[in-house]
Amino acid sequence: MSSAKCVTIGRLKFGGGAPIRVESMLKSRLESVGDCMDELDTLKRAGCELVRVAFPGESLSANLRELAEKSEVPLMADIHFNHRLALAAIDSGCASVRINPGNMSGGDGLMSVLSAAKASGAVIRIGANAGSLSNRQMESRGKDRAAALVAAVEEQLIPLLDMGFEDVIMSAKSSSVPETVRANFILAQRYPFPLHIGITEAGAGTDGAVKSASGLGALIAQGIGDTMRVSLTGESREEVEVAYSILRSMEVRRRGVNLISCPGCGRRHVDVGELVRQVKSLLTRDVPDGLTVAVMGCEVNGPKEAAAADIGIAGTQRGFVMFKKGSMAASGDLSKLEEILKKELAGSIPTI
Ligand code: SF4
Repeated sequence: MSSAKCVTIGRLKFGGGAPIRVESMLKSRLESVGDCMDELDTLKRAGCELVRVAFPGESLSANLRELAEKSEVPLMADIHFNHRLALAAIDSGCASVRINPGNMSGGDGLMSVLSAAKASGAVIRIGANAGSLSNRQMESRGKDRAAALVAAVEEQLIPLLDMGFEDVIMSAKSSSVPETVRANFILAQRYPFPLHIGITEAGAGTDGAVKSASGLGALIAQGIGDTMRVSLTGESREEVEVAYSILRSMEVRRRGVNLISCPGCGRRHVDVGELVRQVKSLLTRDVPDGLTVAVMGCEVNGPKEAAAADIGIAGTQRGFVMFKKGSMAASGDLSKLEEILKKELAGSIPTI
């Protein structure tokens, strides 16, 4: 159950059964086109499919236009208060804008943005964050923050629909996983438009990744979510890597290698952590998407526990044994592992 409706940004479809898209947001300031282009290039190589750019002032229009012209990944300009900024972003060639219709200088301002978006084919994302809910919105929903988030999204959505604009992506985010899940569940039940999902201010490192995985995993398991951002304090590339890791875990997208490894126990013959690091260093982008590689500490349980892996490696008393789809393919001293694994990876074929 993805959204019934789909929108097109750049050459990609969002919603309507399309794969869940991976987004990020530039951490570089728009003042430096060079820094932005470097970050965009890194994000593209990581597999990012839509990049949001903060567009805080019209004086940066020329920079935004240059980025939109040069970027191979479609851009979404992030605008908070001014409808003229939204118009400038669309005029600069941005394929999408994120706005808050409530801040768009009344009906005329909003109408001019919608007309420009229609004329250029730009998609509009609207949405609410728990941090910006008003007292009125909270009180009107009995201080139920998830319900208030839904009400806040509806306050932004309804004017667009009333003006006949439906190329919309919705979002409702909180730093609370249960609130985010509940709000998105309600929105998915009520409206057919694509949903951008994410846990806002998720944090840094493992905590941020786990929080994002908990919330996004819970939504994706219910078929909810058409495009996602993992919001992490850190490098934007990491956001994309974690997003794909979540999508691989949920078995809805297969970009990258599915690396399985055992936790290691008293039966291990090798340092499993070190072996994982060694194997990981060989898993370059040339390796086919969807390949499953298993690293196990011993040959007693390892081959059986990772029988479905395309390539498995298990530690033995004399080095390692390599197996393919559960059948032994090679064995030897650990010093030979890299050479043998490189050959296997070069000839590997994805199975899912
Ligand atoms: S594969 Fe072997 S070393 Fe790893 S956890 Fe299982 S029994 Fe322990």
